[in-house]
Order: sequence, then C-alpha cells, then structure tokens
Amino acid sequence: MNRYLSIYICTLVSSTLLVGQHSLLNQTEGSIMTITGPIAADSMGLALIHEHVFLDWSGADKLDKGQWNNEDALRIILPYLQGMKENGVRTFLECTPAYLGRNPQLLLEIAKVTGLQILTNTGYYAARKYQHIPQSFYEQTAEEIAEIWINEFNVGIGGGQVRPGFIKIGLDARENLTSNDQKLVLAAAKTHLATGLTIVSHTGTDQTAALQISLLREHGVAPEAFVWTHAQRGTKEGHLNQAREGAWISLDGLGWVHPTNGDSTKLYRYVDMISNLKEAGFLHRTLISHDAGWYTVGDKSQDKYQPYTPIFELLFPILVKRGFSETDINQLLVKNPLEAYIIRVRNYP
Ligand SMILES: [Zn+2]
Repeated sequence: MNRYLSIYICTLVSSTLLVGQHSLLNQTEGSIMTITGPIAADSMGLALIHEHVFLDWSGADKLDKGQWNNEDALRIILPYLQGMKENGVRTFLECTPAYLGRNPQLLLEIAKVTGLQILTNTGYYAARKYQHIPQSFYEQTAEEIAEIWINEFNVGIGGGQVRPGFIKIGLDARENLTSNDQKLVLAAAKTHLATGLTIVSHTGTDQTAALQISLLREHGVAPEAFVWTHAQRGTKEGHLNQAREGAWISLDGLGWVHPTNGDSTKLYRYVDMISNLKEAGFLHRTLISHDAGWYTVGDKSQDKYQPYTPIFELLFPILVKRGFSETDINQLLVKNPLEAYIIRVRNYP
C-alpha cells in the first residue's frame, strides 16, 4: 500500500476510534488485542501467556535502541518459534516491558514471518530494584503515568500501529509495598479501568501478591483482572487463597525445568502445584507458560536461549498420566488464556 495512503488510513482509524472517551474500549471490549489489531477472543487458539523473544538488560538510563539489531535477533529467534508452532501454538504473549527491550517493530516482523498472533504490553517493570524504571516515573503522579499507558492503548505505542494487549508491571518481593510500588499498582488500576486490559504483575511471594490485590480492590479493580505472575515462587496455600479471591495464578517458569543431572524436582514441583489447584477446583484460575527465550542484546553467544516446548514435551505427558483429561489441558492453554486476557473492565465490588 502507498505509504501516505496507509498513514492516512491509520490516522482515520485512530480518530474514528477516539470519538468520545473510552470509545476504543467500547469498540474492542470482548476481543483480544494483538500487535496487528483486535481479534475475536475465540480465535486466540492455543496460547502461551508468558514468553520473551527479546531483552535488553542495560537499564532504563543506559538503554540504547540504536544498538538493537533486529535482523540478527530474528535469525536466532525464528527457529525457536518454529518449535512453538509445531506444538500447535497460535498465540503468545511477549512479556518484555518498555525499558527492558519491548520491541514492537521486531514483533511485527515475527508475526508476519511466522503467522503467530502476538500480544505486547504497556506498563513499567520495577522489579530488579527499579533499574528498568525511567526517571520520569519519580516526577509523575499515578494519574500521569496511567495517562501514558492509556494513550499507548488508544493511539498506539509511540504513535505507531501497535497497541498493547495487556498491562505489565513488576515488583520485588516485600513485606510492605513502598510508596513507589503503590504508585505503580495504582497507575495499573487506572489503566485497567480505562482500557479493560488485564494487569500482569511480576510478583514474588504470597504477601506481595496479596498486597497488590487488596490495593487494586481499594481502587475499584476486581482480582479477576490480576495475573499473579511467577506464582511458582509462592506457596500452594497462597495460590488457593488468591484463586479463591478470583485472581489468576500464573505458573510460568516451565522453560527452566529441564532435568539437568537427573534432577527433575523442578518439573515435579509444577506438577504438584497444578494438581493442587485442580483438586481444589481452581483449574479455571490457573495459567501456565515457559517464561522462555530469549535473544539478549549484547550477548555474543546467545547460548542461554531456552525453547518454548517443555510444556508439551515434559509436563503434559506427566499430567495425562495423573488423570488430566483433554478438557483440562484445553482449559489450561485455550480457555483460560482467552478468559484472562479478554478486554473487559472488571470492577470491584
Ligand atoms: Zn518473564
């Protein structure tokens, strides 16, 4: 398409989408927002809800996008995505936030080459001691930060065609949330209420999850809008407690369970946690993924890349032996992702 024509159409679409406040939410409610636009929720298919293809650990202050080489990254990434596709995956969520290597241009290229449906995110990641948080965060209020994120949803990331399909935040594990932690969660709450996007939070312990969920409630957001990411770092009791509240329990480190030296304890911990949730009647609140990948900026060897396949090759054979039915497996990789990431405001109370 002619470049100017396509810019004209994009502008036309953006302005049409923005007639009246929340109109984009109205128009996209009930769908899933991929990087190439909204899709019907039931065309999400088999989905991996927490993966990475590209990361830059430089830190918000030192990050230099001029150093990124998408061509080199593609060469490394594509064979791994082929492995993902061979297992029937149709959609994946790329969970790398801004200031940590979020790379919409690369994701568009990947979607084009592989045919995979990809979701990216808006939000900031404060885990790892706030080193991936921009300086502006400290000078802005939660409202101002939310406005930036909401704007990414309404008009596109950097004014481009890619919109976020979820909100990604991250906190270090603590006994109490700091005022900056609270500001981050509050910005996520406001963004959820304006966009209907689900909040995915890199969270350590039971306590850090519980604190966020109660803060979200105070600001009118129901636990159903919250994904307790890296819940494998919590306890089985904590999982049941938060599942009972309605939150999503994301057991998402399955890319890192390869039995090395005959040690399969990591893998069986997942089997145990998933079985526990199923037995208690909370399979419908359980999400699984690999947190695998990824191309690391500045790493010459790229030899730490983990495949996106252990769920299919290692986990499922064990779950099936333990009595998980096809319906259960389908629930974990099709039904729950659709339910969890559908665009919908989930108010509390
Ligand atoms: Zn991750």
